[in-house]
Amino acid sequence: MLDKAPNGKVSDLLNALDKALSAGEVERTVDLFQTDCYWRDLVTFTWNIKTMEGKEQVRDMLKARLADTRPSNWKIADGEDASEADGITESWIQFETEAARGFGHMRLKDGRIWTLLTTMSELKGHEERLGFDRPMGAKHGAERNRTTWKEDREAEARELGYSRQPYCVIVGGGQGGIALAARLRQLNVPTIIVEKNERPGDSWRKRYKSLCLHDPVWYDHLPYLPFPRNWPVFSPKDKIGDWLEMYTKVMELNYWGSTECKKATYDENSREWTVVVQRDGKEIVLKPKQLVLATGMSAKPNMPKFEGMDIFKGDQHHSSQHPGPDKYKNSKAVVIGSNNSAHDICAALWEAGADVTMVQRSSTHVVRSDSLMELGLAALYSEQAVQAGMTTAKADLIFASLPYKILHEFQIPVYNAIRERDADYYKRLEKAGFLLDYGDDDSGLFMKYLRRGSGYYIDVGASELVANGSIKLKSGVDVKKLTEHSVILSDGTELPADLVVYATGYGSMNGWAADLISKEVADKVGKVWGLGSNTTKDPGPWEGEQRNMWKPTQQEGLWFHGGNLHQSRHYSQFLSLQLKARMEGIPTPVYGLQNVHHLS
Ligand SMILES: Cc1cc2nc3c(=O)[nH]c(=O)nc-3n(C[C@H](O)[C@H](O)[C@H](O)COP(=O)(O)OP(=O)(O)OC[C@H]3O[C@@H](n4cnc5c(N)ncnc54)[C@H](O)[C@@H]3O)c2cc1C
Repeated sequence: MLDKAPNGKVSDLLNALDKALSAGEVERTVDLFQTDCYWRDLVTFTWNIKTMEGKEQVRDMLKARLADTRPSNWKIADGEDASEADGITESWIQFETEAARGFGHMRLKDGRIWTLLTTMSELKGHEERLGFDRPMGAKHGAERNRTTWKEDREAEARELGYSRQPYCVIVGGGQGGIALAARLRQLNVPTIIVEKNERPGDSWRKRYKSLCLHDPVWYDHLPYLPFPRNWPVFSPKDKIGDWLEMYTKVMELNYWGSTECKKATYDENSREWTVVVQRDGKEIVLKPKQLVLATGMSAKPNMPKFEGMDIFKGDQHHSSQHPGPDKYKNSKAVVIGSNNSAHDICAALWEAGADVTMVQRSSTHVVRSDSLMELGLAALYSEQAVQAGMTTAKADLIFASLPYKILHEFQIPVYNAIRERDADYYKRLEKAGFLLDYGDDDSGLFMKYLRRGSGYYIDVGASELVANGSIKLKSGVDVKKLTEHSVILSDGTELPADLVVYATGYGSMNGWAADLISKEVADKVGKVWGLGSNTTKDPGPWEGEQRNMWKPTQQEGLWFHGGNLHQSRHYSQFLSLQLKARMEGIPTPVYGLQNVHHLS
């Protein structure tokens, strides 16, 4: 029989929360929280993406935001039951605010709130037309001079950006821009995506030939339109490109391909952007209220500068420009770097018959794809999870409910288990000279991704080639200089080279703001990405959330969107609601706007 006790505990707590909040009693509300509590809010109370850590921060936020948030109707979410394990009672919850309906998740410890996640599902009066409310499509009846769906779409394409201005311009039509535009379309926010490539999906198509997604299909769905059940676990890059192109079309997005954003300036008086774009050779000026840079966090190449690059006679390029191995079958190739791109490119060059050396300057975290899938992702994103009733939306919310401050504590045991399981494998890699790490605090891949977005390889085969010497390795060294036909390393080794690939990663997204807007605006908003964890490449102070992503920045009307497919899917919901609220003139007082501590 179902144990009702957890439901009772959660309901009692939610009733008390409801009463205290409705009465505007901050202290009584704060009393319902544990001392070491976390309240992560995605837009409902804070109009921000913000984690309150500890009672003091919860109190401060409520003092600032309770009066006009006017939350009510807290209850266990419809159709859900609370559950209990290891002294933690947890439940899906729902609630309302003055402006919106919310969904969330709560964990109780000793009868008090330990973690609370509150997320905005929809704005009241601006609900998406879904299910029972889906559009009719056909216009039944008889009407003179009626227009068809196709004619309406053609008229929109003719007018938007010319005789009628979009409310929002998204620069960058990769998966991030596309997912956000799909949500904005459903919310009736007139939007244009500006993309310098010709077709949606080109940012994947143009990457090196051998690339397949490193994340599995369950993690990668786009909003509204999940991949079909026969979709491969790891999408080949051109296949994901085609999916994005199809998605853009069927989701009716206003996608301006072959269009480059040249310049954007913000007028603080009219609170409007002037965005100059070049479309098919013609300059067009757009005047949106909101500008989203979805220009890619793995898109602004970090190109090193080494002495002798100007005299090197072979081919040299950043990994983002690497065409694939076909041209280099019998070449001597040197790949600088030891993360994902470096490994993929080395393996493809080796497969083609090239003589390949990887140059590893500092340690890298490597994790076998199988182990990551089974121990890292399977509980939320796997076929087993799907069969056990897990939905993508719930998986995303469970993930979101784990506060960043303690996320590493959940990750360390996972990576300890992986290290134990794959001990021989790691030993062989070390024996080959490969410098391994597991993150500064042994918390592994996902924390590295959130903190610095780099420093790892998800092994899909190249590590065996490193371990058995097929890919030659020079580790613990840097490049000293290039000569006409070789790379000289800091230990004096000379590597003859016909090809040098710089797999040296990507820069912060505010570099895009500097390029397109101004250095002043880029500095005003500061570094993009990272948590302030005070670990390598993620300097403190602690921020509690990802810097500048999906939330208001220090520059009014400027937003950053992107990340992996999971993040693009999940956070596009909250960014689209923030934009919609502004378009509708709903007050959006931002609580806890992030301060800037680092410029890049
Ligand atoms: C080798 C590699 C493997 C990866 N594997 C995975 C994976 O398995 N799973 C995953 O989720 N992510 C993966 N990523 C991360 C990947 O970069 C992102 O998930 C994805 O590309 C991000 O999408 P995006 O839309 O944010 O950016 P992008 O896909 O980089 O798109 C940005 C777009 O902005 C356009 N643009 C830039 N400037 C302008 C301008 N001025 N005017 C007009 N257009 C402009 C660019 O042309 C580009 O199309 C990988 C990245 C790399 C490099």
